[in-house]
Amino acid sequence: MFDRASVVTPGGVNSPVRAFRAVGGTPRFMVSGTGPYLTDADGREYVDLVCSWGPMILGHSHPEVIAAVQEAVSRGTSFGTPGEGEVALAEEIVARIAPVEQVRLVSSGTEATMSAIRLARGFTGRPKVVKFAGCYHGHVDALLAAAGSGLATFGLPDTPGVTGATARDTVVLPYNDLDAVRAAFAAHPGEIACVITEASPGNMGVVPPADGFNAGLKELCAANGALYISDEVMTGFRTSKAGWYGVDGVSPDLMTFGKVMGGGFPAAAFGGRADVMAHLAPAGPVYQAGTLSGNPVATAAGLAQLRLLDDAAYAKIDAVSAELRSLVGDAFTKEGVAHTVSSASNMFSVFFTDEPVRNYDDAKKQEAFRFTAFFHSMLEQGVYLPPSAFESWFVSTAHDERAVERIAAALPAAARAASEATA
Ligand code: PLP
Repeated sequence: MFDRASVVTPGGVNSPVRAFRAVGGTPRFMVSGTGPYLTDADGREYVDLVCSWGPMILGHSHPEVIAAVQEAVSRGTSFGTPGEGEVALAEEIVARIAPVEQVRLVSSGTEATMSAIRLARGFTGRPKVVKFAGCYHGHVDALLAAAGSGLATFGLPDTPGVTGATARDTVVLPYNDLDAVRAAFAAHPGEIACVITEASPGNMGVVPPADGFNAGLKELCAANGALYISDEVMTGFRTSKAGWYGVDGVSPDLMTFGKVMGGGFPAAAFGGRADVMAHLAPAGPVYQAGTLSGNPVATAAGLAQLRLLDDAAYAKIDAVSAELRSLVGDAFTKEGVAHTVSSASNMFSVFFTDEPVRNYDDAKKQEAFRFTAFFHSMLEQGVYLPPSAFESWFVSTAHDERAVERIAAALPAAARAASEATA
């Protein structure tokens, strides 16, 4: 299948990280998912610790989500008009997350962050965007810029196809460094439209914000007339009922969502202060649109999933995550592998270093080659991890005792493989 795919699709995949390039080998083609398990085209079953990169927080094929989808699809798949499902999903988001007074639905996290920074620029009349190295906000041109060290460097394009002119309006700073943010505001007075940050980063591995970092960002933005945008595409409706906002209580001006809120379908959103959202077309002048935005099947899936995510569900996910973190840590300790199990609520990942990891530079110092050996051993034993040392692991309410036992049984050999690995 991978050979077939590679003929008709660049690299054989429709999103690069699926390709196993970081770990080597052939990506598994999955044909079905039930609860915490995925089954590949060769009939092999895996305990899934990727959960479609976050969305499948109730496990695969949850009967109530499937029933909601079937009911919605039986009435048609897209109308291109307003519909009740999108109103109900927006109401659910607004009810859960106090800083979100109004919300606009889109189809991907990328669209959400792209639209949020356009709105921030339109609202403030300013050009520049501050982002942090190691934070991923989708493949938005302006946000695909990284930079070397330095306090307030101009971004350099991270990929061919993003022009220098676009990247010049992006200021890339080290994560967890409020002094760098202060310096950027001082270097670009009246020019910064917004600071966008992952609410708690999961795209350089899991690197939670230091105490007071998000609150400091909000304060600096307010003091300098910029908007504070919290990207909760990954953390939203996962790290608590109200996402990371429910953990740290810092109110952003704008927020972005995706993954969990779509129930496995393409649904995402951005929202926040009503006076800012009022600038969006057709209420205001900042244009934004989508043929499939608020799609009735996607909103039905998302709403069904969110309605099942009550306090008991989060308690269960938190408990499974804690159990796995301790099993994983114990396995590496037993084999003498230097490691840090880093977590933010129920999201977690392993860094192969025992030095503290506070930003992307720290994360890159880990012995990532150990992850490759660990990953392949787990895969051979039927545990599907994200195929990169710089990704969060995800669990679901469906990860029961049996699934945890299967992971536990695979860990000793995989930890040994990590300890024996050479660069
Ligand atoms: N923002 C964050 C924090 C993400 O983790 C991602 C995707 O992983 C995105 C934005 C982009 O979302 P999508 O892949 O739906 O475009």
